[in-house]
Amino acid sequence: MKISEGLAMLELKSNVPNVEGIMYPVIIWDEKELVLIDTGLPGQGTTILDLIEKEGVSPQKLTKIIITHHDMDHVGGLTEIIKKVEAVSGKKVEVLSHETEKPYIQGDLMPLKFTKDKLDELKKQMEALSAEKRQQYQSLFSSNKPVVTETLSDNQQLPYCGGMTIIHTPGHTKGHICVYLNRYKTLVAGDSMNFEINSEGELRLTGPNPHFTYNMNEAVESMGKFRACNIHEIICYHCGKMGNNVTEQINELLK
Ligand SMILES: [Zn+2]
Repeated sequence: MKISEGLAMLELKSNVPNVEGIMYPVIIWDEKELVLIDTGLPGQGTTILDLIEKEGVSPQKLTKIIITHHDMDHVGGLTEIIKKVEAVSGKKVEVLSHETEKPYIQGDLMPLKFTKDKLDELKKQMEALSAEKRQQYQSLFSSNKPVVTETLSDNQQLPYCGGMTIIHTPGHTKGHICVYLNRYKTLVAGDSMNFEINSEGELRLTGPNPHFTYNMNEAVESMGKFRACNIHEIICYHCGKMGNNVTEQINELLK
């Protein structure tokens, strides 16, 4: 879904039965760069490239991928996308993340939320998958590890596509980042916030989801950083786009 000239939100349906809903990776582009934020579940790389094409943008122009954090539904398509694009374009696709997330994304450290219980649950879920899907998931934890080529820190300015401000928002994971798109006054919020439709049919911010958040206190504290941004719209990875008095609603949640 095109949002503005040079900004679109992809609508990516889950490819596994145990993960529901639509995910919303974002693309931002100009004549020099095509930046993708987050890459779906394992096995979704090709689907994402097709969705980019549907927005009227050539996926071969992809220059950068920003990963908001290392959860599986954000890094799943990363290796596949890089391989496919580099094979055709012959150019390197850079991968950017917060420095804290780098070892998790590269597979040097086990994902933060993989407790013993979680691993047992995952094992059961894996057994229910088709052989092909299982192989795609296993490859995420074995070979073909992606490499993070540039690490980011809080308040860092990136010069791409009208400028981007990196906001370090620990809570969901330790190195979770949001990306504020300066030109569009749009916050790509990753999993730092969510929203829902209330009984009056209005979009209401609900903040971080306690079920998936590593440290709720930190996550709420991190929301305080958004007060300094002039936000017209936010894009949440699991909810989509919302432009309904965002700053007021953030202040309301922080009361
Ligand atoms: Zn997520």
